[in-house]
Amino acid sequence: MVLADLGRKITSALKSLSNATIIDEDVLNSMLNEICRALLEADVNIKLVKKLKENVKSVIDFEEMAAGLNKRKMIQTAVFKELVKLVDPGVKAWTPVKGQPNVVMFVGLQGSGKTTTCTKLAYYYQKKGWKACLICADTFRAGAFDQLKQNAAKARIPFFGSYTEDNPVILAMDGVDKFKAEGFEIIIVDTSGRHKQEDSLFEEMLQVSNAVNPDNIVFVMDASIGQACESQARAFKEQVDVASVIITKLDGHSKGGGALSAVAATKSPVIFIGTGEHTDDFEQFKTKPFISKLLGMGDIEGLIDKVNELNLDNNEELINKLKHGEFTLRDMYEQFQNIMKMGPFSQIMGLIPGFSSDFMTKGSEQESMARLKKLMTIMDSMNDEELDNREGAKIFVRGPGRVQRVARGAGVSVKEVQELLQQYQKFAQMVKKMGGIKGLFKGGDMSKNVNPAQMQKLNQSIARAMDPRVLHQLGGMNGLQNMMKQFQQGAGGGMGGMMGGGGNK
Ligand code: GDP
Ligand code: MG
Repeated sequence: MVLADLGRKITSALKSLSNATIIDEDVLNSMLNEICRALLEADVNIKLVKKLKENVKSVIDFEEMAAGLNKRKMIQTAVFKELVKLVDPGVKAWTPVKGQPNVVMFVGLQGSGKTTTCTKLAYYYQKKGWKACLICADTFRAGAFDQLKQNAAKARIPFFGSYTEDNPVILAMDGVDKFKAEGFEIIIVDTSGRHKQEDSLFEEMLQVSNAVNPDNIVFVMDASIGQACESQARAFKEQVDVASVIITKLDGHSKGGGALSAVAATKSPVIFIGTGEHTDDFEQFKTKPFISKLLGMGDIEGLIDKVNELNLDNNEELINKLKHGEFTLRDMYEQFQNIMKMGPFSQIMGLIPGFSSDFMTKGSEQESMARLKKLMTIMDSMNDEELDNREGAKIFVRGPGRVQRVARGAGVSVKEVQELLQQYQKFAQMVKKMGGIKGLFKGGDMSKNVNPAQMQKLNQSIARAMDPRVLHQLGGMNGLQNMMKQFQQGAGGGMGGMMGGGGNK
């Protein structure tokens, strides 16, 4: 959880500004030193760290700045901007074009995670409705084709490879030709790696690249090697035309900072990050949301992206309701279904402000899902009148017999039903608050309707909607398991944020 630690340390340094009565050069310096130390500990390149410090100092002019509040804000903004710069090469990321073949070639050292990540990428696009496929052009590593075949079959992705052909160039060409002819849109070529940067690897890489003429060359970089990323990235960039980077193994104990700051050496944008061994442990990478998330500010943009990706039915109807601040139990039920569709629960949780500090925590996924299912079971025992009631929980207050009936039907205790209703009320309040933000529910792509200032407001209102005690507790909490315990105790303001976000696609 090293990256999360880094985030916590930077946040705490930034907070020291709010605690200081006067903000002068000394305060700024000591804050910057604290941040730099944290960055260095996370393996961020020392030259970049120095630059960050200089840049922040250069925008802050103590004589010109008036009020303390202003200073604080300016310094915080400057730090944020510099952190974003650290992971932003300033180059637009490659995006595939629908309806035509897009050939993507993977390069990287052996064990960096190429084969795993190929599958993740194919799966990512397949889920979004693209025709994606995989080609194994790794003839160096024994069992390479079997590995790709297994991964692909599990994710139901068409694949191509051979047990007998030992020329990677021929394999790659044959595969690309075949899949092009079959109308595939995302054609991913997995290549072999070597244990270190060897001439033979680069030679082969160039030959394959010349043969299939890829639209995008993805360099896969293993975050767990820390500082070594830099020279490796440079070497690959010099040999082939690396267009994008995927950083793997940003989970676990990897320091991450080394990989993140190597982005500068590749001059290519990071497009995804890998956060685990499973096909789902894969996140789109965007600089600003990444830094927000790192600093525990939540990733509303990411949440909106996820929700937009869903292409849910009944959009219009729900948006209409939300516009008027309406949110029934049935709406909540449907939102739970959506969350389940959205995939790994912990990833979604990580997008929510306040839950971000542990955003790379995995583990109790099943437990959280089970909890959600249980809530849905309770709602399954409600009748239409209850589910669709505009005042939601009130109908249960007026007729306490209803709670008992639902509890009996669902095989749970009365207390559990009451807890669900409390939870629901929190969500409903949240939705009401969000209903007040103009433009939020215009429909279509919400991120385009809402300007950054409004987005900020939304962020804040979600943070406010959370019980501060819960926020506090979350900071000290380890992982989703405890988080869900909070949720079970009916203090899940963060879930409210999620529901709100989930409801307004
Ligand atoms: P390749 O030699 O470059 O093709 O690397 P592989 O795809 O075979 O991966 C090497 C090892 O890294 C495998 O054990 C993978 O399960 C593991 N791996 C790949 N990506 C990730 C990741 O994002 N997180 C973790 N924890 N392990 C990963
Ligand atoms: Mg491989």
